[in-house]
Amino acid sequence: MKSVYSSENRIFVMNNRNILQNAGIDVEIRNEHTPSGTPGNLVWPELWVSDNEFESACKLLSVGDDQAEEDWQCNQCQEANPGSMNICWNCQASVQVA
Ligand SMILES: [Zn+2]
Repeated sequence: MKSVYSSENRIFVMNNRNILQNAGIDVEIRNEHTPSGTPGNLVWPELWVSDNEFESACKLLSVGDDQAEEDWQCNQCQEANPGSMNICWNCQASVQVA
């Protein structure tokens, strides 16, 4: 298992859990019932996925978080990339490659 997302805002955590579940990924929430406002409490709700689904989960969530950013097309392999990525997911070419 790997932690793929954490936020002090439970709404963000739940929203991202829905994104992953809709994509067919099994998600486990940890620290869901930690009381907020506890002094010194740094334990946020976390989303955990299995190791082999971790990468697809990261891709899904980075797309969901940055919907305002425009997709860009890799100059090297012509693959479409989400705006939140600085390098091509497919060939790792940098965004600045001319
Ligand atoms: Zn590429």
